[in-house]
Amino acid sequence: MSATERTRTRASLQSAFKTALARELSQAPGTPSKEAILRAAAHACRDLLNERWVSTQQQDNQRGEAAPVRRVHYLSMEFLMGRALGNALAALGLDKVMQEALDQHAGGVALGDVIEREPDAALGNGGLGRLAACFLDSFAELGLPSFGYGLRYQYGMFAQGIDGGRQVESPDDWMRMGAPWEIIRPERRYPVRFGGRVVSDSSNAGHAGGRRWVGGEVIMAQAYDFIVPAHHSERVSTLRQWHASSANPIDFQAFCRGDYIEASRHRVAADALNWVLYPDDSTEAGRELRLKQEAFLVSASLQDLIARHLREYGTLLNLGKLNAIHLNDTHPALAPAELMRLLVDEHALSWDAAWKITRQAVSYTNHTLMPEALETWPVRMFEALLPRHLEIIYEINHHFLEEVKAKAPGDTALLRRVSIIDEGSEHGGNERRVRMAALSIVASHRVNGVAKLHSDLCVQTIFADYACLYPDRFHNVTNGVTPRRWLAQANPGLSNLLDAEIGRGWRKNLADLSKVGKLAGDAELQRAFQAVKRENKEKLAALIRTQLGTVVNPASLFDVQIKRIHEYKRQLLNILHVIARYQAILASPNKAPDGLDWVPRTVVIAGKAASAYHMAKLIIQLAHDVARVVNSDPRVGDKLKLVYLPNYGVSLAETIIPAADLSEQISTAGTEASGTGNMKFALNGAITIGTWDGANIEMAEAMGVLNMFVFGLRAEGVQKMKQLGYDPKLYIEENRQLKAVMDAIGNGTFSSGDPERYRAIVDNLTHRDGYMLMADFADYVAAQSRVDALFRQSAAWSERAIRNVAGMGWFSSDRTIAEYVERVWSLNSLG
Ligand SMILES: *Cc1c(COP(=O)(O)O)cnc(C)c1O
Repeated sequence: MSATERTRTRASLQSAFKTALARELSQAPGTPSKEAILRAAAHACRDLLNERWVSTQQQDNQRGEAAPVRRVHYLSMEFLMGRALGNALAALGLDKVMQEALDQHAGGVALGDVIEREPDAALGNGGLGRLAACFLDSFAELGLPSFGYGLRYQYGMFAQGIDGGRQVESPDDWMRMGAPWEIIRPERRYPVRFGGRVVSDSSNAGHAGGRRWVGGEVIMAQAYDFIVPAHHSERVSTLRQWHASSANPIDFQAFCRGDYIEASRHRVAADALNWVLYPDDSTEAGRELRLKQEAFLVSASLQDLIARHLREYGTLLNLGKLNAIHLNDTHPALAPAELMRLLVDEHALSWDAAWKITRQAVSYTNHTLMPEALETWPVRMFEALLPRHLEIIYEINHHFLEEVKAKAPGDTALLRRVSIIDEGSEHGGNERRVRMAALSIVASHRVNGVAKLHSDLCVQTIFADYACLYPDRFHNVTNGVTPRRWLAQANPGLSNLLDAEIGRGWRKNLADLSKVGKLAGDAELQRAFQAVKRENKEKLAALIRTQLGTVVNPASLFDVQIKRIHEYKRQLLNILHVIARYQAILASPNKAPDGLDWVPRTVVIAGKAASAYHMAKLIIQLAHDVARVVNSDPRVGDKLKLVYLPNYGVSLAETIIPAADLSEQISTAGTEASGTGNMKFALNGAITIGTWDGANIEMAEAMGVLNMFVFGLRAEGVQKMKQLGYDPKLYIEENRQLKAVMDAIGNGTFSSGDPERYRAIVDNLTHRDGYMLMADFADYVAAQSRVDALFRQSAAWSERAIRNVAGMGWFSSDRTIAEYVERVWSLNSLG
């Protein structure tokens, strides 16, 4: 940006802020509240960003057919964006200008206090949603023509409260103070049909016999845009979110009769699509709502894509060449069926032409290997809600199975395994279901996993048959995180230190971090690193004190595990270690097992459990019960504290991660597809204690495996042990320490003497233990002792922590997106 442009931008931010604040004050005179100031600041930034949006769109519209990059449409049910103001100001380079504006017009309130008032846009559940948010940042940074497409959930996933140690869910009303960032696009509005029936239509020329979908209910999709700025250019990327409303909002006849409930039935049914992400799937109504949300996202987004493409090119024949449609997991897997429907039924293309376009456009990322997590839907539900899509899926499947028959004649078992329709078991009477992963693979030209091990296991296990049929289709693209949010914004102390040592370039070129590796042994740098970490820990200690009333020692080792609560992530293993340590402290208060003083530890856990996931909720309760006992035991003091911070989300992560010494990445090997939390921690100078799983492996290889505390079974070991017959009881019987831990949970030590409360946990670990905590316990505890030993030597610890930072250059989402462009979205990848 030139100096004159910069002056102009400064001036326009200042005047936009002044105008927006005056508008706020006209509505609520007096001293403006921090919320009013926040809204005014957001509006001011939004206006600048919208100018950038218009020029970005102009650039992209003029790409022309010779453009080397296709426009990417990233379809995701989740975008975990977090707060926007701090990021927008950093991207615009206007933090100082905004503070000046606050000084002049808003009584000198501190910008940091205003930023903290912004509620998180928590339109996601975990890593998959945060990945999508990091990708939007990198789309902008790399100047990639793109749209993110999602739903505008009014109440997010849920807000987590804790009552008596138990999780309670409530609506996360994140827009209650207004939604100053979003821009409504009144012209981008599309009808989406549900239900009804399919009729023959001879006037419809499409190959599929001329079919027309009629009747049912029509819901309108309205676009709201959220603009994501680049930090090193004036490009922006767009998150387009759909809001649902009924095509006929009230039944006028019923209204005139005075029957208001009946009059509003359609309105409420449509509005339900806007309420929450992941309606509880333990009920039929919840599952149906979820399928409708998925279909709604896909249909609105593809209609938008087609309308834009027709405006730009006037023909659909080159649509597949110029557009990529990416499925973030199978949630948007209806996209190929909907695209076929739009092309064949609405735009009269032949089946073959439409299929060619679809295959060129669509690609799919798998995020989990767990067979039970692979999405399927009853055929019955399709018949009721999406009858035309079902016909199209049958037809896709027919063509696909013909191809399989030609490749593997006579192999009917293979046909059954790979079919898009799961016929259910003949004797079990299971209903027929649509396999969304199968549909995604068949319709995609590229399928990828999210870390090397995960991509290898995809091909060897759940997708082995498809990989034999289509060996060139499967690839790996290892995840990454944006350094703008996860280092520059989250950790100003470390950022300043890095700027002084290696310059500011790492924000754009994260590989620059390797330069700091050469300095890791420098005592002065180590001391400066320790000072930054200490300051971050004091901030977190203050937060813990305000939120929980628990006092923790900022000099203690901060041992952190924050992520969704799930059995495979093994928060329970962490809690078992806390109990073992508690018992060891009671047995020997003055000396640790190695004869030295205890290393004081603060164990921090945070995370939400899915509302219908009973075991995960029980684990949350156990964590609280153990915390209550340990934290109030005067014999323990600050040698051990366990704190559970409620309502985990992006902003909380930004506060916790920079303060961590130790990062817990302890999933059962072979279950964590990649992890991205692991990357954020290492980037902020925490050392990982982790299994040989997901991206931990590539991180260890990048930084040197000696800079990580690796423990436990590897994926092959887990596999082998399961085949040989795993008996967790043997581990408990053989290990006195483990036995004592299990006994304490079982005898009510943490449940006020009630042996029933955690019976389900004890029984599960003793008899099934599907995630092999018992097998890994001893090695985990041994690794924790190595952690203590290193932490006592603060210089050696800091050197390794700095080497962690230095090794993370490759794990930027900019690198990830560059690889997607090369391997998945480029024209070359079409073959
Ligand atoms: C990074 C992140 C995740 C993913 O964490 P994992 O440890 O990889 O599961 C989940 N939620 C939030 C809010 C995040 O920022």
